[in-house]
Amino acid sequence: MERSPNVARLRPSATIAVSSLAKRLASEGRDIINLSAGEPDFDTPSFISEAAIQGIRQGQTRYTPAPGMPELRKAVAATLSERAGRPVPWEGIVVSTGAKQALFNACFSIFGPGDEVLVGTPYWTSYPEIVGLCRAEAVPVAGQESRDFKLTPEDLERAATPRTRGFLYSSPGNPTGVVYSRDELQALAEWCRDRGVWLLADEIYREIYFGAGGQAPGLLELPPECLGNHVLFDGASKSFAMTGWRMGFSLSTPEWAKVFTALQSHTTSNVATPSQVAALAAYSRTDETAAAVAEMREAFRRRRDLVERLFREKLPQLPYLEPGGAFYLFFRVDGVFGPGRQTAAELCSWLLEEAGVALVPGEAFGDPRFARLSYATSDELLVKAVDRIAEALAG
Ligand code: PMP
Ligand code: GLU
Repeated sequence: MERSPNVARLRPSATIAVSSLAKRLASEGRDIINLSAGEPDFDTPSFISEAAIQGIRQGQTRYTPAPGMPELRKAVAATLSERAGRPVPWEGIVVSTGAKQALFNACFSIFGPGDEVLVGTPYWTSYPEIVGLCRAEAVPVAGQESRDFKLTPEDLERAATPRTRGFLYSSPGNPTGVVYSRDELQALAEWCRDRGVWLLADEIYREIYFGAGGQAPGLLELPPECLGNHVLFDGASKSFAMTGWRMGFSLSTPEWAKVFTALQSHTTSNVATPSQVAALAAYSRTDETAAAVAEMREAFRRRRDLVERLFREKLPQLPYLEPGGAFYLFFRVDGVFGPGRQTAAELCSWLLEEAGVALVPGEAFGDPRFARLSYATSDELLVKAVDRIAEALAG
């Protein structure tokens, strides 16, 4: 089978693969606690789902413009304008099938053969694959563990070459949950501006933040003069528990939005219309949305505290990074490597088999010393999962 060079190096999403395996084993009757894929376990707030149902009943079932319904793009832009304290042009918003497609649209439109895109390790598993699909080169940049892997302009400078065209990161981060401060972001943004490097900011977890105000620092709060070329990514999946609706967006200049739109118009066209109607409710009924988000954020914070306490008490041999947002715990597993489990991938397969707990091995994120657990699940399952891991390791 000869694959086109377009996909010659493409690997399936590791996060989705582990989670699908866990679901299959569970459906075969195995007792599996699935802490692999990162998705909120909450139902979509009912007023959002109801809006979509109403929309379908009223015939909102046809194509919309490829970049989304204008009223949705305007509602998203209004949310971002409020955050930025200055107007954000709605024509810069392109609504896509998840932030994943928004990332793909932007990377495919901006990068090509010969380009290098800096990606901090540990990275979200899809970043290098998306960059590879553009036939550009993802260049992993390892931050220092003592700084929770957060990158500095010096780290970027060391990795940069004349071919460096972009820098792609997430904050709050997947898989670490680590959050850049406003000053740290500003320093990175200024480096990108000065070096003529595109800054691609994935802020999909910005509402799941445990610090003051409940929203992680982001690009829009930086003084506009700090920013050179940039694209911001966000969406409904994580903030509003809407993973299955597939609604994300990019914010760029209106000129670049037209390019992303042209690409999307030849691939998927618009996001499913009922999903857009649901998202319109989420982005326009702001008080109801804020209340729902606050409740979910509080639950994630409580679980974060719980899982940290459980790790400290029962798994002290697995040191973790302190998460400030998102819903992941990223912890070192190399201290418990042994015969038959000499890599994170082997260890995670062993834990799935022995303990019935599904985790994502660090190989998926570019650091095989670690594993990732999603704590977007019930307290009861978290307690049970940690007990099972501790028991398996005690041997
Ligand atoms: N960025 C990051 C960092 C993620 O973890 C995810 C998870 N799915 C996405 C983007 C894409 O999310 P979605 O396509 O569901 O909007
Ligand atoms: N982003 C989530 C994760 O990292 C969902 C799965 C995916 O799209 O990668 O697990």
